[in-house]
Amino acid sequence: MTTNLGTAVRMIKGVGPQRAELLAQRGIYTLEDLLGYLPFRYENRIHFSKVKDIQPNGTYTIRARVMSGQAVRSMRGRDAIYHLLVQDDAGGSLPCKFFHGGYLEGRLKPGQLLILHGKAEVDKLRPARLEMINPQIEVLSGEEIDSTEVGRIVPIYEAIGTFGSRQIRRAMYAAVQLIDQTMPDVLPEGLRARLGYPSRGEALIHTHFPEPSESLEALNTFRSPSQQRLIFEEFFLYQLSLALDRKATRKENAMAFRVREDAVREALKRILPFKPTAAQKRVLAEIAADLEKTAPMNRLLQGDVGSGKTIIALQAVVIAMENGAQAALMAPTEILAVQHFLSARRLLAKAGYRVELLISGLKGAEKTVALKRIRSGEAQFVIGTHALIEDSVEFTRLGFVAIDEQHRFGVLQRKRLMDKAAAQGHAPHVLVLTATPIPRTLSLTLYGDLDVSVLDELPPGRTPIATRMTTEQHLAGVWEFLRREVTAGHQGYVVYPVIEESKLELKAAMEEYERLSREVFPKLKLGLLHGRLSSEEKEEVMQRFRKNEAQILVATTVVEVGVDVPNATVMVIEHAERFGLSQLHQLRGRIGRGAQKSHCILVAPARMTDEARARLATMVRTSNGFEIAETDLQLRGPGEFFGTRQSGDLGFHIANPLRDREFLELARREAFVLADDAGQQETLQRLLRMLPPEWQRRYHLAHIG
Ligand code: ADP
Ligand code: MG
Repeated sequence: MTTNLGTAVRMIKGVGPQRAELLAQRGIYTLEDLLGYLPFRYENRIHFSKVKDIQPNGTYTIRARVMSGQAVRSMRGRDAIYHLLVQDDAGGSLPCKFFHGGYLEGRLKPGQLLILHGKAEVDKLRPARLEMINPQIEVLSGEEIDSTEVGRIVPIYEAIGTFGSRQIRRAMYAAVQLIDQTMPDVLPEGLRARLGYPSRGEALIHTHFPEPSESLEALNTFRSPSQQRLIFEEFFLYQLSLALDRKATRKENAMAFRVREDAVREALKRILPFKPTAAQKRVLAEIAADLEKTAPMNRLLQGDVGSGKTIIALQAVVIAMENGAQAALMAPTEILAVQHFLSARRLLAKAGYRVELLISGLKGAEKTVALKRIRSGEAQFVIGTHALIEDSVEFTRLGFVAIDEQHRFGVLQRKRLMDKAAAQGHAPHVLVLTATPIPRTLSLTLYGDLDVSVLDELPPGRTPIATRMTTEQHLAGVWEFLRREVTAGHQGYVVYPVIEESKLELKAAMEEYERLSREVFPKLKLGLLHGRLSSEEKEEVMQRFRKNEAQILVATTVVEVGVDVPNATVMVIEHAERFGLSQLHQLRGRIGRGAQKSHCILVAPARMTDEARARLATMVRTSNGFEIAETDLQLRGPGEFFGTRQSGDLGFHIANPLRDREFLELARREAFVLADDAGQQETLQRLLRMLPPEWQRRYHLAHIG
């Protein structure tokens, strides 16, 4: 028998059609995909901790039986706290509390054997006692206990819908049985031996089901040899795609633009609505020097929110258009695309440039016309969302591409846009704009050879934003303050959190909008902006706000990125404790864009977690994007820093660029050596042929080789 990695998951014991459906929603179709679904932590179930030994604030795994359990409902009736009492073999009993635990009622029965994992905490009412709050539990129902559950280091998986960690573990146990000697290894043999890594099959087996001798700490910090090998492998293939890209790009020719001619200089001056800062001038000079060359520009422009990145991109666009090329700007949201479109039109149309908008909200006929103009070259500058990378979009002479707020896009989307130009036989110059500060070495390693320009100066005349924190009890005062600002001719935002897919949360913004309009600000005009509005509705609301026909914009985080209305001086963020630091920073970046003093008010409950409090305190303390990113990294840990979207786009299952930086650097060196070494081209070709489709998709390696 040979390992057939392409086996459909539903054929694997413990999966079946229904679960296969759930897995498919996560992009897991084959045995190989399933094996790539890795545990996020491990428990030692060889030796369980005894209740009598546990200490406050320690984390423990305990095996114990249910003594009693009861849900206690709160006054409001909805939330229930489930109180559970368990006892272990040695007779130690431990109380546990589950907030929102109503679902446990009737599911846990006295005598049932449980495995609990959690932190021991001092019972606030009875300080002499320890308890666990919301421990993770697994029910071991008598007969079913098998060797995957106890007596070993046990992998814990994130549940996939109703497919729980325990069932996933069982299916995975069946899956790893299908791995044998013949499982192909994507790492070249020589490299693997030199680095002393286990084979791919071995690494997968032991990452899912570690040997008993493995250190639990190593596993939980992703440092077991098997995990290291998988981390290296992901980075290696990713870096290989960058290396091969670079090789291909070097051969490609970009259009060399004339930038020093008087006509171009004149054109650049003509569109500038203000005097550029020294930093803006320096960065434009760096970009201009790249645009003169036939080697394509690949540049990352980092600048904090409000530092004035847009105008630099527009200047580069003018250079391209003056040279007879088309230019494109891709933005992460429709609101932002439309805003860029409006300001570009304002600045560029009077100089005779033809600017086009392309978003998926365009109606059929409008879209057809836009596509035609882009194809014929009549549109010189196209601004849009990811609608720009759809297959139907064809350019005629795309020479320059700008991508705004890169952290919202994946590397692959950037490449898709570049491919549009490649279709015309040349590579475009690319400028990526981002407000997320990333340590330089890391960005180089992640983005291949992006050169980096830094905009480290804010435009003049900005008064620092005053940020304060307050509680819901003081909302009346907040509204009074907002009313005064509006009466003085300014505008403001009131932002509510929306957790994706949750209609309930969305209702908060809608209901509050109604209430604020009717009861709090009956004499003022309010606008409501959220993600479920159609493009036209969104645009209409934004338009009213821009023209100051609406003085207060009640919104969800759709206003987070890029929105630029300098007359707005107040940002009220309700439930500020639910936002991440970088999100808060982006939101606050919507104000302080004019000369007037701006105010950010963070409204949060009096009681919140220490982490939330630290986040808000950081916002009050500083407005420096680098400092905020640094704190964000410390508070959330590297795993969360890039957000799932970023690492998801890179397709990593286990590798984490910040945590695993040393492996990233090692992988980069090895991948670039392999790509460039003439003597190893055969090894390289063999590797590329062997890559399964999933890997080719993930790392965009399909077209090479
Ligand atoms: P971001 O870097 O966050 O994308 P924007 O490009 O939106 O920032 O610029 C923020 C605001 O500052 C805009 O209103 C823009 O018109 C203004 N601005 C940019 N550069 C200057 C400058 N040199 N002088 C005055 N205002 C500027
Ligand atoms: Mg911007």
